[in-house]
Amino acid sequence: MPGSCPAFVFACFKRVERFGDRLTGAAGPFFVAAAALLFVAGTLCFLDVILPTIPWPWLSVGPCMLIIINLFAHYYFVCTVSPGFAGDSPQRVGNGFIWAKKRRTHGRFLTNGVYWSSHMNVTPASTTKCPKCGETKPERTHHCRVCNRCVVKYDHHCPVRINQCVGLYNERHFVLFMAYVTLATFCFVVLGWSHLFVALGFEFNDTWEHRVSPILFTIIYLLCIVMCLAIATMLAWQLWSVAIGETAVESYDHEYYRKIATSRGETFQNSYDLGKLRNLQLFFNVGIDGYPIYTLFLPFRVPPYTNGRSWARRPGLERHHGVHVGEELTDEEDN
Ligand SMILES: [Zn+2]
Ligand SMILES: [Zn+2]
Repeated sequence: MPGSCPAFVFACFKRVERFGDRLTGAAGPFFVAAAALLFVAGTLCFLDVILPTIPWPWLSVGPCMLIIINLFAHYYFVCTVSPGFAGDSPQRVGNGFIWAKKRRTHGRFLTNGVYWSSHMNVTPASTTKCPKCGETKPERTHHCRVCNRCVVKYDHHCPVRINQCVGLYNERHFVLFMAYVTLATFCFVVLGWSHLFVALGFEFNDTWEHRVSPILFTIIYLLCIVMCLAIATMLAWQLWSVAIGETAVESYDHEYYRKIATSRGETFQNSYDLGKLRNLQLFFNVGIDGYPIYTLFLPFRVPPYTNGRSWARRPGLERHHGVHVGEELTDEEDN
């Protein structure tokens, strides 16, 4: 029968893909344990070998320790804070010491769980029903195949590093974690290169007098080079997406909307895009009426500016411009 063969191949491919999802889901905890072990080993190498020889210790030890603390704290938060599922009630802001304190602002309001000021154009999210799990999903929510649940402001499922989805409530920690990994590995490479020569035995006048073995140091050093380059690239892409007001899924969707808008002679406009600086401020929830900027440098928990049931939009836009009702992509296309 013509046509049935490609359908069969497609079905097989889908089955293999599902199996892969289940496998990465099962292996997730091991990946996370391996990553955590790697960070601990890297920190021990740094404290034992590099820190005692660091120039201007009275100036540099503090920032180095702060980078290490931020790295571990954001890694812990990104792995343990739920991304926010459509069926769950919105997460509450805690009042423990780990939560950053908001400064007093004028004209701030709290409606629909949106912690922002009255000069913002905030509109309630439209909702649809998920055909896969049956949950009511607000705009920007997507169904994750691995978690088999609908994640609010779904970005992607990250099996390797954090073993869960990146969504509304943990995306800030995810980006800060990547920033601190980049910073930490960069410092390790820059400050540790002279020790690498000793570890490799190229420096004949110097002997290796550390508790950490030279082999472990060399392995960690090489891993730091690779991780610094890889994570910095991912971080740059992630920050760019944030700056233009898109999640990873939306960047694909918007590409499609741009095409259909252009075919009609219209221009697609992303209604979540309030300008690069404002988008970044909203994402990190800092700046005008947000949290103080120091929350980026201290390992505090900061809630998102919205609970995902309302979104700040570009003034004058209630929805994306250039894409008509019924043309929006759903998770079904992803199947
Ligand atoms: Zn769903
Ligand atoms: Zn997921």
